Amino acid sequence: MSIRVLPDVLISQIAAGEVVERPAAALKEILENSLDAGATEIQIELEQGGVKRMRVSDNGCGIPRDELALALTRHATSKIASLADLEQVASLGFRGEALASIAAIARVQLSSRSASSDHPGAEHAWALQVEGGQLAEPTPVARGIGTTLDIQDLFFNTPARRKFLKTEATEYAHCAETVRRQALSHPDTAFVLSHNGRVLLRFNVATAAARVRQVLGEAFESNTVAVDAAAGALRVAGWVIRPGAATASRDSQHVFVNGRYVRDKLIVHALKEAYRDVLHHQLNPAYCLFISLPPDGVDVNVHPAKTEIRFRESRGVHQFLFHAVERLLAAPAAGEAGAVLPVPEGAVSPFAATTPWQTTMPLQVSPLQVNEAMAFYAPLAAHPSSGAPLAQGSGFGGQDSGMGVAPAARPLPEGGDAPPLGYAIAQLHGVYVLAQNAQGLVLVDMHAAHERVVYEKLKAALDARAVPAQTLLIPVALTVDARDAAEISPHLDALRDIGFELSITSPTSVAVRSVPWLLKNADPVELTRAVLHEAAEFGVMRLLAERRNELLATLACHGAVRANRQLALPEMNALLREMEVTERAGQCNHGRPTWFQVSLKELDAMFMRGR
Ligand code: ADP
Ligand code: MG
Repeated sequence: MSIRVLPDVLISQIAAGEVVERPAAALKEILENSLDAGATEIQIELEQGGVKRMRVSDNGCGIPRDELALALTRHATSKIASLADLEQVASLGFRGEALASIAAIARVQLSSRSASSDHPGAEHAWALQVEGGQLAEPTPVARGIGTTLDIQDLFFNTPARRKFLKTEATEYAHCAETVRRQALSHPDTAFVLSHNGRVLLRFNVATAAARVRQVLGEAFESNTVAVDAAAGALRVAGWVIRPGAATASRDSQHVFVNGRYVRDKLIVHALKEAYRDVLHHQLNPAYCLFISLPPDGVDVNVHPAKTEIRFRESRGVHQFLFHAVERLLAAPAAGEAGAVLPVPEGAVSPFAATTPWQTTMPLQVSPLQVNEAMAFYAPLAAHPSSGAPLAQGSGFGGQDSGMGVAPAARPLPEGGDAPPLGYAIAQLHGVYVLAQNAQGLVLVDMHAAHERVVYEKLKAALDARAVPAQTLLIPVALTVDARDAAEISPHLDALRDIGFELSITSPTSVAVRSVPWLLKNADPVELTRAVLHEAAEFGVMRLLAERRNELLATLACHGAVRANRQLALPEMNALLREMEVTERAGQCNHGRPTWFQVSLKELDAMFMRGR
């Protein structure tokens, strides 16, 4: 075959392969056109999953008679005129190929009445018929200002494509998802979707929050925390799941950049990282995020369907999103059911997301709590090398905690100034702490909660380069693999910086002289073996650099109070107080929840008790 230039219709049919792979993809393009035209009402009627018929009417600015044919012509657009425009795209569309592609593979009628009256034919609406790319002459029709695109028999002339279509129900479901996405990012526009004559979705004009509730449901709203952060012109607003409510599904990850729904690996990664410390690895975060930045900060012209984008400052965007969400989740009560953090108005600080927590739920320190904490920490606070408060005791002093006879559980003070997690009442089966707070009952998994407390303290101590060590009265000797001893021997100073003073006493034996003070109640042999084990696997250098948090998590697990250890009430209260000031206290180091609130309302409902 010799080289030839393809006919226009065939070019459009080829382009349609990329842009219109299924009815939902055509619908997305059409909805974007309506939104670009400023529509505040969009009505969508589908038949047979959109394959038989797709009719979209809007009340946007309309198209003048003389431009109807152009709208259906390839590379014809009203949205950009120059390369400079392309680098600043503010509209959803700009490629000028969607309508031409659709018109090449379906029977299309475009009817419209323009809002502007200074062009020929402005006195009424006009309709243009196209079939297989062949345009007819416009004819006058009756309709108000706006546009209707009526598409029948999608893929009628491209049977190969038709074969790839799924069932009617599946194609409809994709179309509905497309409408829901556009609705999420355009709360100022009303949407009505009907299928085979029945209205199945209806979204009225609403605020952003109300629209999210309409589209994603009340459960999404109550299981998420609001985020709103900005750094210069870069801003993120929206909702992220409470770690305790996360599931394995990735379906609920909605991201919009300048109003455009996108699937972006960078954003997904930033969010996954932000949850790393609080989410079990088999679970995925759910979120609905609206990111905005100046149009020239993002290249939207990298993908025919425009769902992939490229940020100019991708690293900066990644860091910004990561920090905004990570900080929000670090707030001690982020995992708490029912503690919705409001979106601050006009937030400007990149970490504004953490502010509402501080203003709506201050950690009240009553004199009683201070006394109790002082008594509890007295033997610990005397330690010579304890610097920053976070580097202090782990909350469980073991034998030296100075505990007397366990006092009775404390009643809640009047006037609502009880601490957020309340006061301990009892320990259950050696595993759970029961406490009572203003809302009702609090259940704590004491090992999981303490593990997080110790972990966060270890991290803080290491960040502050102040890891006090506890010298053992008698050094402990342990037999090790010769390779493990060889691996650690050049790094004994680095290990001392994290509190482990070890010496190699023979090619196969190590003596432990000190362990991190925060872990002094743990078994020194077990702790050292854990370090050696990880060092053997990753090497000491990697272990102390990129594997550092994993190592600290392992150590924290060894250092945390074990099940079946009897705790006295002041110990339990001390744990509750520690949890209140510990970042990410809602999840243990493995992402499991550490505590639950059972409200009085829930208890009443359980007992069918009306109040
Ligand atoms: P693009 O959106 O990339 O410009 P399209 O092929 O989707 O390309 O549309 C071509 C042109 O038709 C648009 O630039 C716009 O001027 C016009 N158009 C399409 N749909 C509408 C609509 N619903 N209301 C007003 N104008 C429309
Ligand atoms: Mg378009």
